[in-house]
Amino acid sequence: MTAQSSRADNDLSAPNDLEAWWLPFTANRSFKARPRMIARAKDMHYYTPEGRAVLDGAAGLWCCNAGHNRDEITAAIQAQAAELDYSPAFQFGHAAGFAIASRIAQLAPGDLDHVFFCNSGSEAVDTALKIALAYWNVQGQGSRTRLIGRERGYHGVGFGGISVGGIVKNRQFFGSLLAGVDHLPHTYNRAEQAFSRGEPEWGAHLADELERIVALHDASTIAAVIVEPMAGSTGVIPAPKGYLQRLRQICDKYGILLIFDEVITGFGRLGTAFAAERYGVIPDMITFAKGVNSGTVPMGGVLVRKGIHDAFMKGPDNMIELFHGYTYSGHPLACASALAAQDIYRDEKLFERAKALEPVWADAIHGLKDLPNVLDIRTVGLVGAIDLASRPDAFGARAFEAMDRGFHDHDLMIRITGDTIAISPPLIITEVQIGELADKLGKVIRAVA
Ligand code: PMP
Repeated sequence: MTAQSSRADNDLSAPNDLEAWWLPFTANRSFKARPRMIARAKDMHYYTPEGRAVLDGAAGLWCCNAGHNRDEITAAIQAQAAELDYSPAFQFGHAAGFAIASRIAQLAPGDLDHVFFCNSGSEAVDTALKIALAYWNVQGQGSRTRLIGRERGYHGVGFGGISVGGIVKNRQFFGSLLAGVDHLPHTYNRAEQAFSRGEPEWGAHLADELERIVALHDASTIAAVIVEPMAGSTGVIPAPKGYLQRLRQICDKYGILLIFDEVITGFGRLGTAFAAERYGVIPDMITFAKGVNSGTVPMGGVLVRKGIHDAFMKGPDNMIELFHGYTYSGHPLACASALAAQDIYRDEKLFERAKALEPVWADAIHGLKDLPNVLDIRTVGLVGAIDLASRPDAFGARAFEAMDRGFHDHDLMIRITGDTIAISPPLIITEVQIGELADKLGKVIRAVA
C-alpha cells in the first residue's frame, strides 16, 4: 500500500476497507462478504454499528466474566494510563504488578503462591512448559524433557501449545512441532456420557493411560503433564468424576509435574476461583488469562507452587534466575484492569453466583435436547455445549450457519467449534437472561434444521 492514510480511513463509523485485516481463526472470505461487525458493548450485550443489541452468549471469547465495559475497570485503566503508561518488568517493578500477583495467589488453592505474568493464554502455556523444563534442569534432572498433553486439548497457538495440544487442524500445517511429546486419550465418549450435567460418571480410568506412557519412556524422562480441567475449545469436555484426582496420584507417584490449563476455567467459570478448587486437586502450575481482567487488556500468567519457584532462588543473588519473560509481562494497564476486575468478582460474588446458577443454567440448556439435529448437550459451571448433526455435505457448516444467523437474525453471539455450539455467558447473567439465551438458541437451532 502506498497511499498515506487519510482522516477518512480513521472514520470508525463505517470502515470502507475490510481487506487489510486478516482475521484469526475466521472464515475470512465469508466474513468479508457478510461481516459481523461490533461497535460497542455494555454488560450482557454487544451492539452492532446499526445499534442492534446482541446478547453475549460467549463472554466474548470465554473472557468477559464481569460483563462488558464495566465503569470500574474503565476508570482503573484510565487512571493507570495517566499515571504510568509502561514500565519494564525486567529488573524493575511497579505497585500494580505486585498487588495483582498477590491477589491472584490468594485466590489459588494450596501453595500456588507465585505468579509469572505474560500477555495471553498461549504465552502462559509456553511459559509453564518452559518453567517445567527449567525446573528439572535446576534440580539436576535434565533428562526430564518429555511433555504429555491430551487429545482434543487446546493450549493456544505457540509451538509448545500446539505440540501438547490435540487439535488436528492446529497441528497439521506447521511442521514437526516439539519433539518428545505424548498425548493422553481424550475423555469424551458419547455412548457413555451423553447429556451430562457436570462431571460425567464415566472416564476416570482414562487417566491410567499415563501409567502406560510412563512404562514406555520411564518417569526419569518425563517433565510434565498438561491438561485443561474442562477442555473448552474442542467442544466443552468436562473432566470425568475422579479423573483429575487420578492424574494427580500418578504424577505424584512418578514425580511428574501436573499443569492445569485454566485459561478458560480460571476466575469463576466453573463456580470457583479456579477449577482446581472445584475438583479438590492442586496442580503444580496453573495457566490463566482471559477472565483475569475480564478480557479488557491482553494478560496471562502462570501460578507456580512455592517449591518450584524456590528451587530457582539459589546461586548469587544478583543473577537472573529464569531466562524468560516478555516486554509486556505485568503491563501496568493489564495489572490495573485485573485489580479492578478482581474487585468486581469479589464485591459482586460472581464466582459464587456462577455456582448458584449452575442448576438453572443446566436446566435451560438441557431443555433444548429435543430440537432437530441435537446429538448431545453438556453443561458444567456456566458453560454449555450442543453437538449438532453435521450436514452430509460439509462438516462444520451447520454450526457456522447457526453462529452467523444467530448474530444477524436472532441478536445472539455464540461460539462454534466443528458442529458444536459452545456457550459461556458473562457471570453477571440473570436467570431471566438465561431463559432468553436458551430461547434464542432454540430459534437458531430450528433455523438451521
Ligand atoms: N489455553 C486454553 C485452555 C484456551 O482455551 C486458550 C484460548 N481459548 C488458550 C490457552 C490460548 O489463549 P490465547 O488465545 O489468549 O493465546
